[in-house]
Amino acid sequence: MKAWERNFRRVEPYTPGEQPEFANMVKLNTNENPYPPSPKVEEAAGRLCREVEKFRLYPDFKAGVLVDALAGYYKLSKDQVFVGVGSDDVLSVAFLTFFNSHKPVLFPDITYSFYDVWARVYGIPYECPALDENFRIRREDYYRENGGIVLANPNAPTSVAEGLDFIEDIVSHNQESVVVVDEAYVDFGQTSALPLLSKYENLLVVQTFSKSRSMAGVRIGYAMGHPSLIRAMNDVKYSINSYTMNYPSLQLGVAALEDDVYFKECCERIIKTRGRAKETLCGLGFTCLNSSANFLFATHESMSAKKIFAALKERGIFVRYFDKPRIDNYLRITIGTEEQMERLFRALKEILG
Ligand SMILES: *Cc1c(COP(=O)(O)O)cnc(C)c1O
Repeated sequence: MKAWERNFRRVEPYTPGEQPEFANMVKLNTNENPYPPSPKVEEAAGRLCREVEKFRLYPDFKAGVLVDALAGYYKLSKDQVFVGVGSDDVLSVAFLTFFNSHKPVLFPDITYSFYDVWARVYGIPYECPALDENFRIRREDYYRENGGIVLANPNAPTSVAEGLDFIEDIVSHNQESVVVVDEAYVDFGQTSALPLLSKYENLLVVQTFSKSRSMAGVRIGYAMGHPSLIRAMNDVKYSINSYTMNYPSLQLGVAALEDDVYFKECCERIIKTRGRAKETLCGLGFTCLNSSANFLFATHESMSAKKIFAALKERGIFVRYFDKPRIDNYLRITIGTEEQMERLFRALKEILG
């Protein structure tokens, strides 16, 4: 090892789902939305093409237009909203801002696998209470001293959600630390923790345009919370990189928020397809957890998940498989269009004989 290599910050990185690209594939592995963004986003993209001249200038580091639009949409004040480059950026800033204590941050053993990566890269101590045998959070595990709490609700990759009372119980038991609720999938049928913001100053709710608004490629995430939390996050952000939100993303994000009808229709379609898909999978010998997200977490009665995953891949159908304790016999299947799901079912029938 070279002398200077000893000074490297070494981390085991997060592994994103594959982004394969070939004709006729069915991509159900990264929870992207199968439908395009709103036509309003397309119009805004057209306008951007005609104002390339504006790219000369730095964007508004306060992301003002998007913060205003989000505050209007959720009926909050501007100082309660933070925006970032996808919720991954927002969550990473939240970890760096709020979890600066010697006490461990708590999040479940099975959850979004970026949390432990951020904790390690920032040197934050953490502990992971185990979900119960039905992949539910045990609330009592979060009644002890801690340096912060992070919960994905609905959880990933399990798809299981807890109700508002459950989240409130955890927030109210932890008024000494910041509780972050990652609501990446909340628009697919779960109630948000947003109504709790007026009651708890220690709650941060994080959402994203990547799943329900079909804009994973544009990278927009946001956090909502008490102005003191948002101010602290902005101070950290401005100490690293002020201009995270580029001008095109800001414009496209505002346009997406203007089309609530399209947004809700898209979510409804996915929820409907999810219901039908669950039934079909049950008929094929799968058990699916009760999903509140745009994916199903499924295990088969006789064939191993690993085998099914490989056989689907050979047929150009990508789902997600995690070779990890407790979940290594499950597949995470993103809800696609009706046609994509049909292709999945046909392939599964063939594979399962
Ligand atoms: C997809 C996802 C995110 C990150 O999404 P961005 O594209 O960075 O907004 C965050 N949390 C969970 C639980 C997710 O599934």
